[in-house]
Amino acid sequence: MANNFARMLSSKRNVRILSLIGAGSLTAGFLLNREHVTAGAPARRVYPASAEYPDLRKHNNCMASHLTPAIYAKLVDKTTPNGYSLDQAIQTGVDNPGHPFIKTVGMVAGDEESYEVFADLLDPVIKERHNGYDPQIMTHPTDLDSSKLTSGNFDERYVLSSRVRTGRSIRGLSLPPACTRAERREVERVVVDALAGLKGDLAGTYYSLTHMTDQEQQQLIDDHFLFDKPVSPLLTCSGMARDWPDARGIWHNNTKTFLIWINEEDHTRVISMEKGGNMKRVFDRFCTGLKEVERLIQEKGWEFMWNERLGYILTCPSNLGTGLRAGVHVNLPKLSKDPRFAKILDNLRLQKRGTGGVDTAAVGSTFDISNLDRLGQSEVQLVQTVVDGVNYLIDCEKKLEKGQDIKIPPPFKK
Ligand code: ADP
Ligand code: MG
Repeated sequence: MANNFARMLSSKRNVRILSLIGAGSLTAGFLLNREHVTAGAPARRVYPASAEYPDLRKHNNCMASHLTPAIYAKLVDKTTPNGYSLDQAIQTGVDNPGHPFIKTVGMVAGDEESYEVFADLLDPVIKERHNGYDPQIMTHPTDLDSSKLTSGNFDERYVLSSRVRTGRSIRGLSLPPACTRAERREVERVVVDALAGLKGDLAGTYYSLTHMTDQEQQQLIDDHFLFDKPVSPLLTCSGMARDWPDARGIWHNNTKTFLIWINEEDHTRVISMEKGGNMKRVFDRFCTGLKEVERLIQEKGWEFMWNERLGYILTCPSNLGTGLRAGVHVNLPKLSKDPRFAKILDNLRLQKRGTGGVDTAAVGSTFDISNLDRLGQSEVQLVQTVVDGVNYLIDCEKKLEKGQDIKIPPPFKK
């Protein structure tokens, strides 16, 4: 009897019912925190908000820049309909004061509603991270017509590989920081089921992490096809790595040029990539494949999380909008040692990562260079920014090789 009662209380539906019939937020919060297991989410109202306010004095992430004691006090007792709390949303940013290579956002969403319920904090964070985009008054454009891209072929003496990725979330299921095991498995089922409908060059197979050998997994990681093991503290502290590797996996076509990650940081990550510098072809395949994936998901009766203010809804606020990161592995031995490199990248709205991913340092002089922005501009615009920017970097490298001077370009204007 006691067990049945506990089970009844801990099912999400019943917690929602409990909150509707007026059960204390303390009880509902406690039960949901058990179910959504994110370390350290405290029971509310035992101490005042001022006593719970995190120590952010050594922090350098967007969340820490905007979470004032007043905003904390206003939001700390709120939860989304799934029971996701502010403390859960900011935990990763509290536990990770900074990142060695990039300024991180410092918070995640647990579900689609997080962006509404915690808007007092998320809107300014989004505005900072997305170059002034104001979600209260702006709307986000989508454009997946890859024929509009111009000069998408890079000099292959410098560009080793080209890649475009985005993420998509399935509406109605909690995001990885907060999903239950059943929801995570449902994402896997829905997506794998839909992907079976891909045809021709896009047709492929799903490989679940649970069924892969360690060697197979490591090979896919080393070849840059698969997400890393959950080593990043940004991932573990947000709760996204719970139950690893349950319901995680990678789907890809036979040539490994169209790939879909399942249940890493997002429900899905859709990737088009290949060796060499043909960004045009990579973007063509990305657009065709992504539209087809969306059609197949809808055919199964599901849809992606999207709204016109924020575009596609993803776990990390840095990925809102297009969710698109178009990038190349590019070798820049001279430019990368030039003191103006960082400023040039900044003005071109480009981001630099290590060759093994966001948590790695560069190998030699080869960097992953990609667009910094995701929101407020369309997919076509962002890929064009990368194409033009990377061509500019290659020109600089060639000039430096010849002993000529280079210029810092004027700041990018939309
Ligand atoms: P994402 O933004 O897709 O999560 P990460 O920085 O986490 O990117 O890297 C994921 C993987 O993708 C890593 O193995 C990384 O080396 C690989 N990768 C990223 N960009 C490229 C590229 N242009 N060419 C080849 N591999 C890439
Ligand atoms: Mg990643």
